[in-house]
Amino acid sequence: MHFHVVTLFPEMFSSYLCESILARAVKEKKIQISFYNPRDYVTGKYKKVWPDGNVSRIVDDRPYGGGPGMILRAEPVLKAVAKAQAKTKGKTKIILFAPRGKKFETVYAKNCIKKKITDIIMISGRYEGIDARVKKILKAEELSIGDYVLTGGELPALVLIDSIARQIPGVLGKFESLEEERISSGEFYTRPEVLEHKGKKYRVPKVLLSGNHKEIEAWKKGE
Ligand code: SAM
Repeated sequence: MHFHVVTLFPEMFSSYLCESILARAVKEKKIQISFYNPRDYVTGKYKKVWPDGNVSRIVDDRPYGGGPGMILRAEPVLKAVAKAQAKTKGKTKIILFAPRGKKFETVYAKNCIKKKITDIIMISGRYEGIDARVKKILKAEELSIGDYVLTGGELPALVLIDSIARQIPGVLGKFESLEEERISSGEFYTRPEVLEHKGKKYRVPKVLLSGNHKEIEAWKKGE
């Protein structure tokens, strides 16, 4: 699976993606992640070269009809997406993040694998959002990761990468896969058997120490 992320802040991703299961998945070529910054595709009057040699690349503009905040312009976003599209190899999804979009759930992640999607292009919004014509032109799917408003679409992109990657065969080790299935058992305990904290003793439930696997499984289901 190749994840293509269109974002103004690609550097935000590295600390999360360079650790643990996802880093291993990249190393073992189970997933590939590429970034495309709309700022790199700014041209015309939005690109200003200052006398000191510095260059400003403006990706946003005021909303038609008024209103607060700025809008991410369509042109640099579309150019960034075109770059990503040129690298796709098969069945491709284009996703645009928005708080009002369809709620992302595990079933969506599972379906991406079932439907043999090879490439997912994700567009992370910023400011007040993205010019609505991007969604229309690309026929992009609008997804939300929850009923709250975030500052940008970078966290939603990480959520999708993480959750979809976990569904790819071989990304999780055998033990991790088992743990994934056990998501419904809420309480977990490890050593010590008795934890002392601020003068109080907290014990591991007796059933977990019993060695009776049937009872333990029943307790976990009950939990
Ligand atoms: N008023 C804007 C709206 O309703 O779309 C809020 C824009 S928000 C400050 C900036 C960007 O963050 C959005 O364009 C979107 O890409 C992303 N975003 C914010 N909350 C999100 C959520 N719950 N799910 C997915 N994306 C979200």
